[in-house]
Amino acid sequence: MKKHNFNAGPSILPRIAIENSAKAILDLNGSGLSLLEISHRSKDFQAIIDEAVALFKELLKIPENYHVLFLGGGASLQFCMVPYNLLKTKAAYLETGVWAQKAIKEAKFFGQVEVVASSSDKNFTYVPKNYSIPADADYFHITTNNTIFGSELRTDIDSPVPLVADMSSDILSRPVDVSKYSIIYGGAQKNIGPAGVTVVIIREDILGKVDRPIPTMLNYKTHIKEGSLFNTPPCFAIYTCLETLRWIKSLGGVAKVEEMNRKKAQLLYNTIDNSKIFVGTVEKESRSMMNICFVMKEQYKDKEDAFMEFAKGKGMIGIKGHRSVGGFRASCYNALPIESVQALIDCMNEFEKANV
Ligand SMILES: *Cc1c(COP(=O)(O)O)cnc(C)c1O
Repeated sequence: MKKHNFNAGPSILPRIAIENSAKAILDLNGSGLSLLEISHRSKDFQAIIDEAVALFKELLKIPENYHVLFLGGGASLQFCMVPYNLLKTKAAYLETGVWAQKAIKEAKFFGQVEVVASSSDKNFTYVPKNYSIPADADYFHITTNNTIFGSELRTDIDSPVPLVADMSSDILSRPVDVSKYSIIYGGAQKNIGPAGVTVVIIREDILGKVDRPIPTMLNYKTHIKEGSLFNTPPCFAIYTCLETLRWIKSLGGVAKVEEMNRKKAQLLYNTIDNSKIFVGTVEKESRSMMNICFVMKEQYKDKEDAFMEFAKGKGMIGIKGHRSVGGFRASCYNALPIESVQALIDCMNEFEKANV
């Protein structure tokens, strides 16, 4: 049976990226060696990382004064690296979910944190809008897509202080005005590649302003200077990222990918909104195109397990909602084909017919 992979992360990747990565593991470019057994300082690997950086810059139209880094440690290490490198006295954060809270927790190790707004009052079912960013903050940190709760901030906001964004789960899902951000970071395992590598897009001139000593590995300057090759980077994961970037380019770029994502999300949200038994959990204007969360209406709550089983029987994978939301979450990342969304919709309609 065909599987429809709605996993939240690690998650679905373009089939071609997986196939080409498998080939590179067996034999990289006819070299007789595996991608896994060559030096990260070899010409072959340098070409891989150079192309990955160049494609990232091309696809997101990243201005000249930014660097693209491939680091280890996950997005979670960025929760610490950002304040380590940028926080002098005070940082501002937007609290929109569990990942934002984790970022806030780390920043507090380094200085004062002002949470400018929070949607915790409604279990993070919306992205706050009317708040002011303190002009004396060293930076303002946002989470553009809240993977667990299914809300998303899809506009590039204007910030009077350097803007830092965790884009782990929506990077490359839409065009972004990179010039409005000082740092964009994301774990690769949702929209770009396998687990093990984190992408950081950074404007160098925001660095060098804190007085504290920064350990070498945690200092962005180290990785900028060494082109992500200060130590051995996650070579294999970077290679798969490259394959995904090539795939995005072959489709026509990020705007094209956004169009596809919009279609998928519209189909599924329409089904949810027209359903007698399902209901979306997030306020309409904050809805994520990547992680679509829904539950069963109060009077049908006892049927959630039955739907889960039914959907499993039809090949749906990973649609169980996070425990802090319950119900269902369909992660519709770039690589998820529209056919999978249609299959889930058919499944929902069929279940509804039989149970209402
Ligand atoms: C998954 C996720 C993280 C954590 O990423 P790791 O690479 O596992 O550290 C952080 N932020 C967001 C928005 C995420 O979705």
